[in-house]
Amino acid sequence: MAPPKLPLTNELGYYEIRMESIGGMGANLAGQILAEACILEMGYNGVNFASYGSEKKGTPVKSFLRLCPGDVEVTDNSPVEHPHMLVVFAEGLLGSVPLTQGFKKGGSVVINTTKSPDEIVEIMKLPGCRVVCVDAMKIAMEEKIPLNTAMLGALSRASGFIDPEAIKNVIKGKIGKRYPHLVEGNMNAFDRGYNEVKETDYCSLEKYPEVPFHRVEPELGYANEPMGGIITNPGNTVLKNHAASRTGYIPLWHEDKCIHCGDCDLTCPDHCMVFEIRADDKGKDNSFMLGVDYQYCKGCLRCVDICPVEALTTEVETNHDVNQLRADLRRVL
Ligand code: SF4
Ligand code: SF4
Repeated sequence: MAPPKLPLTNELGYYEIRMESIGGMGANLAGQILAEACILEMGYNGVNFASYGSEKKGTPVKSFLRLCPGDVEVTDNSPVEHPHMLVVFAEGLLGSVPLTQGFKKGGSVVINTTKSPDEIVEIMKLPGCRVVCVDAMKIAMEEKIPLNTAMLGALSRASGFIDPEAIKNVIKGKIGKRYPHLVEGNMNAFDRGYNEVKETDYCSLEKYPEVPFHRVEPELGYANEPMGGIITNPGNTVLKNHAASRTGYIPLWHEDKCIHCGDCDLTCPDHCMVFEIRADDKGKDNSFMLGVDYQYCKGCLRCVDICPVEALTTEVETNHDVNQLRADLRRVL
């Protein structure tokens, strides 16, 4: 049986999806699962691939899927520049990655967030489209699995044509043999992602225009790079904000439990812990912790593991205001 007609297509006859994520959140695997479901289970033609940046956990990642009817050939293997569906795995990417570039009016945005569609339209300045919000992080934590399965549930719902059973079959096939104990949690997360969405149709909204796509070029290249590739602005990490590297969790410091042992400071690979020297009860100078500088924190949570008294705990980032909690490292340097 032929698959359902694609709701939107470009001039080549393709429906295109771009997933924007952070390494470690499973967007690449989600793209593979989606492609297998659409191509092998439903009968579309298509292609899926991902772009990893510097290929490590914590850096921005994109996964692309291009679909067309079974009798159309896929002749375009370039990254998706004008997606009909934009899938955002991490709110932390808003403001640090130009997510909406090339996104087409009339398409759909699926985003992992606790915010409402009304708030997302304003924050992302979206052109007329459907907005589907899902708290995939909450679902993932409660089902004890990565959040990509809940995102796939919401994505299937938002698409209106990707069969949820086809995706579930692929998930079962992929993890059932190696991790049978995880099948139930994944199925629950998928169904919850499908059902627990907040969705609103803003297709007639004219408030914000489409953002044209343009390829971001590095400031330095073969023509203007200093001899030997020297970095000419030393200390540039002062400007670096690692918020987009976090996968939704932060270490939260509890001052009342902290014994100021410094183990977290020794463990943190990015020197995020802020200490000051001041007199202790006996009048001797000693080091006292003031908190975490979240500007440099990539959310690896090694500090939580090492703390001997549970003065650091793992928390969902969106439940806290890191700007309020932040201890400013530069203030004590
Ligand atoms: S490891 Fe725990 S107790 Fe020690 S300084 Fe860090 S937060 Fe405080
Ligand atoms: S999670 Fe902890 S150890 Fe990891 S970067 Fe952040 S403060 Fe440092």
